[in-house]
Amino acid sequence: MRAEYGDGGPAAGVKLWHMVRGTEAVAMCGRELGGDAPVREASDWGKTAELCCHTCGAYYLRETPYLATEHP
Ligand SMILES: [Zn+2]
Repeated sequence: MRAEYGDGGPAAGVKLWHMVRGTEAVAMCGRELGGDAPVREASDWGKTAELCCHTCGAYYLRETPYLATEHP
């Protein structure tokens, strides 16, 4: 997963987390993210203080349905 900065760039802090494949800079929802934006492990999805992109979440859970069963 890779961060999207808020308005104002890195100084504004992380606004939203998107899911990306590998180290790509384009999120599953199609949004282009900064190549220098922070990244986190996919297993951190839903556990961050910041919000996660709903569209990316839908794609991600559809591709990895086993994860859905881990969370009651
Ligand atoms: Zn997204």
